[in-house]
Amino acid sequence: APAPPPAQHLFSDPAEIEALRGNLLAWYDKCKRDLPWRRLAAAEPDADRRAYAVWVSEIMLQQTQVATVIDYYNRWMQKWPTLQALAQASLEEVNELWAGLGYYSRGKRLQEAARKVVSELAGQMPRTAEDLQKLLPGVGRYTAGAIASMSYGQATGIVDGNVIRVLCRLRCIGADSSSPAVIERLWDMANALVDRSRPGDFNQALMELGATVCVPKAPLCGECPVKQHCRARRRKLFGKPAPVPDVEDCGVGSCPLCPPAAEPWDSSLGVTNFPRKAAKKPPRAARTATCVLERRGCHGALEYLIVQRPSSGLLAGLWEFPSLPLAQGLQEEKQREVLADHLRAWTGWPVAAGGLRFIGEVVHIFSHIHQTYVVYSLPLDGDVTLDPALSPSRWVTEKEFHASAVSTAMKKVL
Ligand code: SF4
Repeated sequence: APAPPPAQHLFSDPAEIEALRGNLLAWYDKCKRDLPWRRLAAAEPDADRRAYAVWVSEIMLQQTQVATVIDYYNRWMQKWPTLQALAQASLEEVNELWAGLGYYSRGKRLQEAARKVVSELAGQMPRTAEDLQKLLPGVGRYTAGAIASMSYGQATGIVDGNVIRVLCRLRCIGADSSSPAVIERLWDMANALVDRSRPGDFNQALMELGATVCVPKAPLCGECPVKQHCRARRRKLFGKPAPVPDVEDCGVGSCPLCPPAAEPWDSSLGVTNFPRKAAKKPPRAARTATCVLERRGCHGALEYLIVQRPSSGLLAGLWEFPSLPLAQGLQEEKQREVLADHLRAWTGWPVAAGGLRFIGEVVHIFSHIHQTYVVYSLPLDGDVTLDPALSPSRWVTEKEFHASAVSTAMKKVL
């Protein structure tokens, strides 16, 4: 078994843990933000309905800012107030509501999981973090812990980006915070700290602290309710601690939780020495030619042709202008030709490369792809009959385009 971590990285004093819980919860009761999912969950006496309200919010909040989520959340809960209602929705409706929120597979999996609860689990939500994670698609360790603690009162901790930052600062953890060894330690710590009688509030309080006080760049340590338990702050104020066993610096280089020997504590950074992450891989560059085919509809309004993407992979099931991935380094002239070939095969029309009007380029950053859309337009003056064996397609007005399940990238293209 690996050796236990040095004492400075642990919460081992029961009195300190009790004090930290009390201070954090008192602060949360006074300062928590008024958010729609909190309001809904607090007013909901039925635990399963509460779990659904929490679940939707947690999935939407993954990788997305609170301010962006609020409107989507309100519309979603109005349209599908219960798990049973969501289970009856079509994927098209889910994609339409999700459009613009990004990471589209989240909505799809949420709906798949709702259907599974209704059809395979007799409408009963699993009630522990272990079962939630095991039985529901798209529910990982964090979401399972959030639902179980906030809806069913299970005393289980949770670790997300905010919690990582707070815990790493509280206990001076400077090793790569995305490494499995550190993540495992943080889960142990979260489980040890979580308040036994108010686990859901405690978890939300820890995340709220990370979101509003212990923020990445300029944390408000002076206002922090747990500052007296914070070893990063102590180190900032008093310098390198005296070499006594319970607070000793572990010895740069030999401790698996301290900053790496090559990047020791930097006093100009203060508490923001923690957490640290290994450098991210840069996103992959990709280019796609996309063509806005337009015509005058029967009432004279401009209409655009959109096609549906395959049901798996990036932006699964969403609608887009006819598009074609481009090989790296392809010359402009060649790009036009391959796009014209593609459109010709697809529409059966004699599309000439020279007829495609180059409009410009649109850059969109997905989490792992730096995508450039090379945008062309092609006005058509007759109807196009598309081969029904190809992807589904339809003509839409600008208003209909915005109401369709299209990605933010395609809105930029338009
Ligand atoms: Fe974060 Fe500062 Fe509070 Fe420590 S004292 S937990 S660094 S806000």
